[in-house]
Amino acid sequence: MKIRPKFNGVLPYHSIGEYYKTHFGEKVYKLSVTVSDDCPNRRGLKGMKTCIFCDPWGSAAYTKTQKLKLEEQIEEVKSYVLSAQGKGAKKFLVYFQAYTSTFTSVKKLRAYIEAATIGNDIVGFVIGTRPDCLSPAVFDLINEYSNRYYFSIELGVQSFDDNQLEFMRRGHTAKDSIEAINKIYQSSNADIGIHLMFGLPGETESDVIKAAETVSQLPIQNVKLHNLHVLTNTPLADLYKKGEFTPLDLESYTDRAIAFITHLPEKFAIQRLSAVATRWDELVAPAWTRHKMKAHQFIVDEMNRREGYQGMYAVESNTSKYNSGERYDRLERFQYSR
Ligand code: SF4
Repeated sequence: MKIRPKFNGVLPYHSIGEYYKTHFGEKVYKLSVTVSDDCPNRRGLKGMKTCIFCDPWGSAAYTKTQKLKLEEQIEEVKSYVLSAQGKGAKKFLVYFQAYTSTFTSVKKLRAYIEAATIGNDIVGFVIGTRPDCLSPAVFDLINEYSNRYYFSIELGVQSFDDNQLEFMRRGHTAKDSIEAINKIYQSSNADIGIHLMFGLPGETESDVIKAAETVSQLPIQNVKLHNLHVLTNTPLADLYKKGEFTPLDLESYTDRAIAFITHLPEKFAIQRLSAVATRWDELVAPAWTRHKMKAHQFIVDEMNRREGYQGMYAVESNTSKYNSGERYDRLERFQYSR
């Protein structure tokens, strides 16, 4: 029988907060900003107008600051974080979150990095993008800065099932995602995080377990989990109104999330357990996705009640071509170089 690893405090999983703490020696906060207003889907390059779930703000956390200059966005979002966390928040990662942040020129990306690094409390960058928007020039740029700043690339993978990707109108395949992950791994020092969605039509618990097994073979460091929720002004809202899509209730989503986490090896950090609808006026369904901490606590409590923990059913792979200790090698390299 496996022994439950000692995760950070009471959590039954390896949280991204714990990962960052190991990395930076203290808590680090992400500042979500917008540096792009476009993506291949919205541009019509994929034969569709948008992913099925995406709102007009490109899934941005803060829409009110979206049009400000980057430096102003950073200051505004930092002030939200400081008012919520107090003066204890001292290190920040700038998260290029909305739309597809690499769907722009490298010249512009460089200018954003330069603009963001004026304060010495910025310790790195998280770049949100799609599997089909990663050119060699992006890796060159990251490598140029990565001896001074931490970098992580967050990929919208969403699913490893091509039928589900088609339903979501993503315009890329699971193979594209795996190739992109390998490309990042081979071409840069950036950490890799992936976003996955559960609660897709026809999805079963064994699909979710299969996703955990796929992740366990990949050279990534973290996963962000979302339930597929319905927002206004999205194609999914139309399906919902016609009765052609029903989002999962919290209990059913919790079963999926627990199935995934218990099959995911403990070395992978988990960013988030479910989606959060920060703008309540935009949320169509389900209502439980309004309350970040309530849903989080429900999943954690249920996992504890079942005496479950991350990696409980994970099979240590000896077929993966990646060295599992490598994450920490990278991390030490980063600490020494700053
Ligand atoms: S989720 Fe990303 S790729 Fe899809 S429409 Fe929104 S911004 Fe574009």
